[in-house]
Amino acid sequence: MQLYNTLSAKERAALIEEAGQDRLTISFYQYAHIGNPEIFRNHLFITWNELDVLGRIYVAHEGINAQLSIPAENFEAFKVHLDSVSFLENVRLNIAIEQDNLSFLKLKVKVRKKIVADGLNDHSFDVTDKGIHVGAEQFNELLEDPDTILVDMRNHYESEIGHFKNAITPDVDTFRASLDIIEKDLKDHKEDKKLVMYCTGGIRCEKASAYYKHKGFKQVYQLEGGIIDYARQVENKNLENKFLGKNFVFDHRRSERISDDVIAQCHQCGKACDTHVNCANEACHLLFIQCEECGSKMDNCCSDPCKEVNALPFEEQKKLRKGKGASNKIFKKGRSEVLKFKQ
Ligand SMILES: [Zn+2]
Ligand SMILES: [Zn+2]
Repeated sequence: MQLYNTLSAKERAALIEEAGQDRLTISFYQYAHIGNPEIFRNHLFITWNELDVLGRIYVAHEGINAQLSIPAENFEAFKVHLDSVSFLENVRLNIAIEQDNLSFLKLKVKVRKKIVADGLNDHSFDVTDKGIHVGAEQFNELLEDPDTILVDMRNHYESEIGHFKNAITPDVDTFRASLDIIEKDLKDHKEDKKLVMYCTGGIRCEKASAYYKHKGFKQVYQLEGGIIDYARQVENKNLENKFLGKNFVFDHRRSERISDDVIAQCHQCGKACDTHVNCANEACHLLFIQCEECGSKMDNCCSDPCKEVNALPFEEQKKLRKGKGASNKIFKKGRSEVLKFKQ
C-alpha cells in the first residue's frame, strides 16, 4: 500500500531539470487537526509568496487543500518547507502531466470551514475510517475483477470528457448528490461487491470511502492520488492505461489529456469534441463544450442572445450588467437549455 508521495530525490531532480526555468503545477491535500487556521494561513502565505508560489489554497480546522504552481528551481526549497510542517512531511504531491506556466496567476490562501465543500456533516461518521488505498497497478487489477463496481466520484461535466472504462458516472452537479444516488443504486451489493472509486486527485474519495463504509459497504477501495497520479504511474511504470479521454482540472488548463480518445461532443453541433470553453459574454460565462467551427460561428458564445450582447461595446455591456448579480447559468455548465445538442 502506497501511503505517501514516492517521488524520490532523484525523480524530483529529473523533473526540475526537465522543467528548466518553467513552473510546475502541483496539487496536494491533507486531513489534519489545525488548531488555528488563521495563523497557519499567514505562515503559508509569507513563506510561499517568497518562493513565488501561485495558486489556490484552502486551510481549515480539518486540514489543507492546495492547488498551485511553483518555479521548478524553487521546488526543493518548497519541499523542505512542507517537510518542516509536521502533518505535511512526505505528503503525496500530485504533479500535473501537462505543465503550463499560466495554470495559476495569483497566490490565494483562504481560511474556510472545510477544505472541500462536500455538504457532509463531519460528525455523522468517522472520516479516518477510509477505504483501502490502491495504486495504478492494483487499480488496473481490480478493474478486471468481475466483482468490482467502479464509481466515478466526480460531477457530470468532469466525467463527460474523460473517465475509466465501464465506470458508473453519476449525472450530478455536486459531490453530495452523488453519494445518495450511488448508495441507492448499489444497496443490494454492500457485502458481495467491491466498491472501487476514483476522483481527480483523491481528496473526494477520502470522504466518500469513509461514508460508504459507514453506510455498510464491506469492501471499499479508492484510487490513491486520483486520476492525476494514475496517469503519472501509467507513464512511469509503463502500465496499461484504462482511462479514456481527458482529466478535468480546476485551473486555467481546464483539463489534461490522458488518452487520445475523444468521448464527448460539442454542445452546439454534436461533433466529437472535448474542449471546455467559457461563453465569451462576461455576463454569462457558461462553461460548455464547443468545437472550433461553432466557436467561430458563434463568436465563442453559448447562444444567439449572448452573441448579441458580446457584440456590443464594452461600456454598453457593463450598463446591461449593472445591478444584476452573476448569472446563475454559470453553474449549469453543460446543462443549460441554450445548448442545442444533448446526448
Ligand atoms: Zn460544434
Ligand atoms: Zn452565454
